[in-house]
Amino acid sequence: MNKPVILTGLRANGELHLGNYLGGMLPMVQLQAKYAGEYQVNMFVPDLHSFTTPIDHGKLYLQIVQNLKLFVAAGLDISNDDTYIYRQSYVPMHSELTWILDCFTYFGELSRMTEFKDKASRLGHESISVGLYNYPALMAADILLYAAKYVPVGDDQRQHIELTRDIALRMNNKFNKDLFVVPAEWTEQVAFAERDAGVRIKSLRNPTKKMSKSIDDPAGTILLTDAPEAAVKKIMGAETDSLGVIHYDIEAQPGISNLLQILALLINEPLSRVADTWDGKTAYSDLKKAVANEVKVFLHDFQTKLAAVNEADLLRKLEASEFLMRDVAGQRLYKIQQAVGLRP
Ligand code: AMP
Repeated sequence: MNKPVILTGLRANGELHLGNYLGGMLPMVQLQAKYAGEYQVNMFVPDLHSFTTPIDHGKLYLQIVQNLKLFVAAGLDISNDDTYIYRQSYVPMHSELTWILDCFTYFGELSRMTEFKDKASRLGHESISVGLYNYPALMAADILLYAAKYVPVGDDQRQHIELTRDIALRMNNKFNKDLFVVPAEWTEQVAFAERDAGVRIKSLRNPTKKMSKSIDDPAGTILLTDAPEAAVKKIMGAETDSLGVIHYDIEAQPGISNLLQILALLINEPLSRVADTWDGKTAYSDLKKAVANEVKVFLHDFQTKLAAVNEADLLRKLEASEFLMRDVAGQRLYKIQQAVGLRP
């Protein structure tokens, strides 16, 4: 267990969508395949993050197990001995470390998080929980407990990765320079995942907003469980613009740029190359058809793999991983407790 760690998590607060897959799952699965044997891979369900905004709690437990199956359908090889899958709430050290980190995180820092500000403005003042405000500290604990250097996440999480670095550096400075492994900075994270830039898939209906499971936007969101034909209709109905010429430009042509980004990730080519191929073409419908076709093939393949997931194997791996992670996380928490003076 001395290998450097790549870690990512996907919340179980609804069905996962194409943005989750392209921003969080795909890079993890690609990195696992590329670095098998060299890195430890932690892919977990941050279940305590699931109700920072209101959810149907009656469905949560099943969604957690479903999320784990989605990891396997996405291509995560759970037979790999350096790969661990776990549920955050089954490793209680996450919560304990959060409290310690909270006391070294500033009110002003958390108040500046744009994810918090966006969600808070949608929810209205009375419904904003302290959990929504504080979740970046829990995310920092999720990362720092396992000394993860690389954390493949979508661009929406960039600020939280930067905050995690700030907290780790601050505490290393105060207590011991080796207390935490500081995660790589954002540009290095993006380069490690072999992306041109951070990935932020937009709503097909409102391409200035990210594709999201918490927004009530069914026509703008492709769920991983959508029937392939229904997904094709959503792509063909995607909002574009009236400029009439394809050009990758997030500001002037957000809808077209979103389609180019989805296409590049699904066919596993650099965004710059795909943008060059389509640049100057005038038939938006040809681009939509190309994207729709790739999405259809992807969903068909994904859903076939999902139906074939062996639940018994998954649960066996899950329990073994959680047993080990409690040990690893417990040892690291103890060192942090010592550093802050809670243990001899
Ligand atoms: P969450 O749904 O907030 O738990 O996010 C799980 C993962 O999906 C994280 O890596 C996010 O950065 C990523 N993600 C969520 N929405 C998008 C999106 N629209 N585009 C790209 N990545 C996303």
